[in-house]
Amino acid sequence: MTPSVNVVAIDGPAGAGKSTIARELARVLNLPYLDTGAMYRGITCAALRKGIDPSDDAAVAELALITQLDISEDGLLVDGIDATADIRGEAVTRAVSSVAANSEVRRDLRERQRSWVASRGGGVVEGRDIATVVFPDARLKVFLTASPLVRAQRRVAQIGGDVDQIARDIAERDHKDSTRIDSPLRESENAMLVDTSNRSIEDVVNQIAEVFHG
Ligand code: C5P
Repeated sequence: MTPSVNVVAIDGPAGAGKSTIARELARVLNLPYLDTGAMYRGITCAALRKGIDPSDDAAVAELALITQLDISEDGLLVDGIDATADIRGEAVTRAVSSVAANSEVRRDLRERQRSWVASRGGGVVEGRDIATVVFPDARLKVFLTASPLVRAQRRVAQIGGDVDQIARDIAERDHKDSTRIDSPLRESENAMLVDTSNRSIEDVVNQIAEVFHG
């Protein structure tokens, strides 16, 4: 059995509900959960800690290769130091799309994501390029969306701030993520498209779980 047999790939833009839904789906399906965005955030955090400019591709690529990421249900350790709160902060959120556009970083993290899943025999994996690039043969591919207003409101509920400002920040990050050359955010062919705007988490999770079980 190849590892991808037990893989659910979940992609979508910021605030579409990926993390909440993927985590709950993983619990329901009894599979490990991997948040690949946290890995890009972890490398960004390592660069900021060391005073490396996130848009300096060569320096960030070199740093990524030697940065240890320990990702678990409890959070993320970057080189052994807890970065769970830092990776959700404004500085990392603003810089992460530059780091994620770095092809060397993507190559490195892609390999780590595949081995993380292979060593656990599967997983619910969420990100931007999971169905299109990392696990194109996933058993189930899901693309989550929500209206721009709902996405901004969800972020405000999580981190506070002004809805209009957050909506602009999200639009800018989505634009960078979907127009970059390497593995842009894109709906995979034969992905199940789910608009989470006016639906409960439970409802969405049940729908995806039903399709997974066939
Ligand atoms: O999912 P999250 O918002 O935490 O992701 C943070 C950033 O990491 C995204 O805006 C994107 O730039 C990058 N990312 C990516 N590919 C993934 C997961 C995240 O490029 N598979």
